[in-house]
Amino acid sequence: MSAAKTLTEAPEKASGRASRRVSTREIERRLQDAQAHCSERGALLTPLRREVLELLLRRHGTAKAYDLQDDMRARHGRVAPTTVYRALDFLMSMQLVHRVDSVNSFVACQLDHEHEHLAHQALMLVCSQCGSVSETHAEHELASALRTLERGAAGFEVSAVEIKGRCATCTPRPRAAAAADKPLA
Ligand SMILES: [Zn+2]
Ligand SMILES: [Zn+2]
Repeated sequence: MSAAKTLTEAPEKASGRASRRVSTREIERRLQDAQAHCSERGALLTPLRREVLELLLRRHGTAKAYDLQDDMRARHGRVAPTTVYRALDFLMSMQLVHRVDSVNSFVACQLDHEHEHLAHQALMLVCSQCGSVSETHAEHELASALRTLERGAAGFEVSAVEIKGRCATCTPRPRAAAAADKPLA
């Protein structure tokens, strides 16, 4: 049984904040987590929804909707665009996927779902150079600032916070040695 083509096994070191490569084994684990996560909430991760999540994970967790449509088409032939969007909507409602507007992409939630996957305030760090996205969580100060904002802007609901910057890979290294050796005068 060698149906699975060479997947993105990840010998590469996960470097800093760049989009992480996701190994086949990890994809499987995350799909199982997602399944459990949905059934705990009385929702159904249908084969289609599961597949869209899988395809997203195979793209290292970040993709545009039309990439996922291409992937679906490659597997199943003609696929209506709404099919993928509906699955993404569901996955977003479960917070298994987040939308990142500034790069017009969807990312698989990077939170470890084992224990909790309650509502969480995702904070997306978006590299404006390479477009990589990494998720951290807005705990404490930021979370409470957001609550204040929401109270202030009646009815406004913050869905995601995106912060633009430059990831570790794209940030030029400072000329380390010289600077580090000499104590400041
Ligand atoms: Zn998340
Ligand atoms: Zn970058």
